[in-house]
Amino acid sequence: MKEILTNNTSETQTFAQQVASFAKPGLVIALAGDLGAGKTTFTQGFARALGVNARVKSPTFNIMNTYVANDFPIYHFDAYRLEETGAQDQGFEDYVGTDGVTLIEWPQYMKDLLPKDRLELNFTRGAQDDVRFIQVHGIGSAESIEEKLCLLI
Ligand code: ADP
Ligand code: MG
Repeated sequence: MKEILTNNTSETQTFAQQVASFAKPGLVIALAGDLGAGKTTFTQGFARALGVNARVKSPTFNIMNTYVANDFPIYHFDAYRLEETGAQDQGFEDYVGTDGVTLIEWPQYMKDLLPKDRLELNFTRGAQDDVRFIQVHGIGSAESIEEKLCLLI
């Protein structure tokens, strides 16, 4: 487990760019943290680093957005609205951890669909307005990404 501190949105996006440099198809990134913690901001930096030109927004109402990156698709989930309904029977397993990279905001509401191998990023606010802490935890095959990030940050 490693924790990094960012002082503003652009530092969060620079960190996202570093994570993106290790992303391969099949990777699943669980983005935990409260509203406004920086999960979508991270995803914007991540997607841009991989060649996405479209504006990345939180897919709250449609749960999932797909972006075309240079080498593979990016599946961006916001599971917030699944709190009551659950994530079953919606076909999400056709995307999570398949041919693209999957980022999931509010992963606690898609627990049954989270693969064992995943990178967990946990966002929390600091005492000052623009400070965010990001805990990094690579599980299973994603452990190597945590290790490589530790060498960079
Ligand atoms: P979430 O998806 O977790 O709800 P967003 O990324 O949509 O959060 O929003 C984060 C908000 O916090 C944005 O308004 C952003 O400008 C602001 N912000 C301030 N400091 C940071 C930081 N260090 N990292 C990320 N976002 C930050
Ligand atoms: Mg969001």
